[in-house]
This record gives sequence, structure tokens and C-alpha cells, in this order.
Amino acid sequence: MKSKIFDSDDSFNIWGCTVCDTCDEVCPQKVELTEIFTILKNMSVERGEAPDYYTTQALTILENAKAIPMQPAIERRREQLKLPKIMEPDIAEVKKLLEATKLSKKLVKKEI
Ligand code: SF4
Repeated sequence: MKSKIFDSDDSFNIWGCTVCDTCDEVCPQKVELTEIFTILKNMSVERGEAPDYYTTQALTILENAKAIPMQPAIERRREQLKLPKIMEPDIAEVKKLLEATKLSKKLVKKEI
């Protein structure tokens, strides 16, 4: 089954799961599909086969401690809406946590 799962050109086989947990909630056999998909996604990353959109996003979080870097347009809009300023994340702390998971080493294979 590994070749069917990992060697497919369709990364949606694994990465299409959005971890919504719906299947876990309704499965009468209590099969935790979300966990299975998470394991498969981790295996895909370790094989260097994760889709670019995933590795790019992971690297962005590794470098900026957030998925979407703050932009002046967003800050202006928040000011207009009288929303509080968003606190800057502690990049060093987030990086340290992610390095403990060996994320950067796992993403190296992809070389994006
Ligand atoms: S958690 Fe289950 S129901 Fe939700 S997307 Fe993933 S496989 Fe589908």
C-alpha cells in the first residue's frame, strides 16, 4: 500500500485531510483516521515528498513564528476597525520549539 499512498502524483490522497475530526466523531468502530493521516503526513515529510505548499508554509512559520507575516495593509485595516495591535511572536522561542521537533532537518530534503 505504501507505493499507492506515497508514490502517487496526487498528494491529495494524504494532504487532502484537513483534520476536521468529523470522521473521528462519527466512526462506529472508533477508528481515529485523523491520527492515521497525521502519521502518513509525517512519513511523507520525512520521505521528502511533502507538497511545496506545506513545506513553504512550514519554513515561513520556522522563520517568522507565524504563517502569514504581518503586512502594513493589515495593520492599517486593524487600526481602522479599532482592533488591538497584534503582539509580535517571540521568534527565537518558536524557533527553539520547532528545532526541538527537528523540523528544519526534515524540511531540508525538499530544498525549496
Ligand atoms: S479529519 Fe476525517 S473527515 Fe475530516 S478531512 Fe480528515 S479524513 Fe476527512
